[in-house]
Amino acid sequence: MDINCTAKELFVFKKIAHAAASLGLETYVIGGFVRDKLLNRSTKDADIVCVGDGIELARAVAEQFNPSPNIAFYKNFGTAALKIDEFDIEFVGARKESYRYHSRNPEVEPGTLKEDQHRRDFTINAMAISLNETDYGKLADPFNGLEDLANRIIRTPLEPGQTFSDDPLRMLRAIRFASQLGFTIEETTWRGICLHVDRIKIISQERITEEFNKILLSNKPSVGLDLLYQSGLMHIIFPQMVDLAGAEYIDGKGHKDNFYHTLQVVDNIAPHTNDLWLRWAALLHDIGKPATKKFEVGHGWTFHGHEVVGGRMVPRLFTKLKLPQNEKMRYVRKLVELHLRPISLTKENITDSAIRRLLFDAGEEIDDLMLLCSADITSKNKFKVKRYLSNFNLVRERLQEVEEKDRIRNWQPPITGEQIMETFQLPPGRIVGEIKNKIREAILDGEIPNSYEAAFNLMVEKAREYNLHPKQ
Ligand code: ATP
Repeated sequence: MDINCTAKELFVFKKIAHAAASLGLETYVIGGFVRDKLLNRSTKDADIVCVGDGIELARAVAEQFNPSPNIAFYKNFGTAALKIDEFDIEFVGARKESYRYHSRNPEVEPGTLKEDQHRRDFTINAMAISLNETDYGKLADPFNGLEDLANRIIRTPLEPGQTFSDDPLRMLRAIRFASQLGFTIEETTWRGICLHVDRIKIISQERITEEFNKILLSNKPSVGLDLLYQSGLMHIIFPQMVDLAGAEYIDGKGHKDNFYHTLQVVDNIAPHTNDLWLRWAALLHDIGKPATKKFEVGHGWTFHGHEVVGGRMVPRLFTKLKLPQNEKMRYVRKLVELHLRPISLTKENITDSAIRRLLFDAGEEIDDLMLLCSADITSKNKFKVKRYLSNFNLVRERLQEVEEKDRIRNWQPPITGEQIMETFQLPPGRIVGEIKNKIREAILDGEIPNSYEAAFNLMVEKAREYNLHPKQ
């Protein structure tokens, strides 16, 4: 083998080779597995291509194992998949594809290995390794993918315009690989992308978002995000990001370019988290700025309330991008809404009650929020950065101090709505909510201690304002 496989992978490939030989099928391991092995990246799946029926081969391979692994058949695509331990293997017959302009779906016919390699998106993804007896382990690399790997280049095997027009998702894949692998997109390939950006409109939102998420999860997401912007793809798939770009000047006063600031924030947070949703929060933290931008004479540019407006945009954006409408969305919204709060606590003389309020509002998300706020410091002035970061450390210390004392993080006020209803024989309604809020606010403000007795007394006192008295 020309690549460095684990013993398990070699064992499985031998079995596949054996099954293929018994069926007389020419067979190869192809695509991402070969690329990632040559790059020393981790792999957990492999694509097997044979000149013939991939499903028949999958069946014969499964029979080689005892017990036989389950096979998943995808008849529409002529593929079959099986899992051996944690190794996912997909089988497909080599094919030739031809596209018609208005359709995403190619006409597919059986083909040779060469023809199959021609339908692949990039030279680095078209390499195959033989599993045939005559040349077992030999690399078939018709487009010099090996050289492009060494030079860290993304290049289409065929004319780029054709490749991208045939399947416009490949434009996003090119940018995703550039971002994931830290590769450069070769010049004519890049021009091909720029010329065909409009074609992305025929691709489903789910597939676009899947690639976008991979870009966001790469080590330095700004690489991919900036390529999306420079190519014009961002204008189509995510125009709200483009609205952040540029700096306007009035009376010689400008504001920072919020698009590049955002990219810096996402890069800053990337080494600290692989959580997709925290990265989304970093991406969207200033998304409300364009809608709230104002120039105030004598004062300069302001973005008052951008965190609230930005928070409100999150559900709509998630719907449009086909991202989940669940607690992940609420998490992102919450972080966007709260992203200025820790900064307001870096001033002197911050009271315990302000700290308690932040702990209460952020709850479980407090650590992620602090991470986002530290990443949000993108000043070029090193002294400023140092001062801001040390201020944040003070806030962190205060948060810890107050949390240890008052346990606010997962706190619920000691009196519940049910207790209020029971004590005053009240039906559910506005008054119950108001009394409950007053108790919560009084504890957060430190007006009464966080105890059942104090809360009960305050409840009785507040209820009196509504002419209510405890029922015996
Ligand atoms: P990853 O595993 O990192 O998501 P990958 O490209 O290795 O990326 P797949 O997306 O499963 O994994 O693709 C497997 C192979 O199929 C690729 O290496 C490439 O050869 C081919 N391929 C995938 N998508 C396309 C496409 N849109 N156009 C042409 N070839 C493609």
